[in-house]
Amino acid sequence: MGLQKTKQEIEFIRESALIVSKTLGMLAAEIKPGVTTLHLDKLAETFIRDHDAEPGFLGLYDFPNTLCVSPNAQVVHGIPNDTPLVEGDIVSIDCGALKNGYYGDHAYTFEVGDVEESTRKLLAITKESLYVGIDLFRVGKRVGDVGHAIQRHVEAHGYGVVRELVGHGLGKTMHEKPEMPNYGRRGRGKAFSEGMVIALEPMINAGTHKINQLADGWTILTADGMPSAHFEHNIAIVDGEPELLSTFSYIYEALGIESDEEKPFRTKSISK
Ligand code: MG
Ligand code: MG
Repeated sequence: MGLQKTKQEIEFIRESALIVSKTLGMLAAEIKPGVTTLHLDKLAETFIRDHDAEPGFLGLYDFPNTLCVSPNAQVVHGIPNDTPLVEGDIVSIDCGALKNGYYGDHAYTFEVGDVEESTRKLLAITKESLYVGIDLFRVGKRVGDVGHAIQRHVEAHGYGVVRELVGHGLGKTMHEKPEMPNYGRRGRGKAFSEGMVIALEPMINAGTHKINQLADGWTILTADGMPSAHFEHNIAIVDGEPELLSTFSYIYEALGIESDEEKPFRTKSISK
């Protein structure tokens, strides 16, 4: 499969990515102490189907749910369950949608009620690192430039970059080339070109970069039990520059947060 997408393909990926963006915005209003992650999963599945799309993760590699829900020390790939979220938790929610044969894949780490200051900083720095990486996804740069910049940004704060899991190309399948590690060396790796589409997704731990996997065969968690954050956007290269296909604006609207973090990047106007 070619790494370059046509304009039509990019529009299809954008449509799916925006369905995921709206799904996360819907969930943002529901995430509070006492809610179960299985409840969030059901809401998301209904919402996606109501938008004439299919959940992108359900059944993919035999994953059992619509959402990957990973609280606190869980990094990614947590399975929704009937344990209620509690005040002070953080919860990473990763969601996929499939429409017109193309995937969107997008994630955000939410705060549940009042969260410890050190954990809020982990979320802020991880999200910053995502945009630092996106800014280098342009013609003239390489895979290693993005990974290096993300790594440098978060390691300056003493955080650990998960090595075993990486971002990826996106299109007719959820995981395409190139792999997009959140670490690396400047000037190395595949050169970016017009029409490439990726999912960039730093997975950043407050402590060690090392991870373990639960016996469920899915859940990844930090080896030291410290919290982990995960933010993911879908981006295309259009006219040589990064264009955001997903947006956190629905989340911010639901939470009453003012943010201009997406302003520096190309987007298409977001319809309701
Ligand atoms: Mg994802
Ligand atoms: Mg992904």
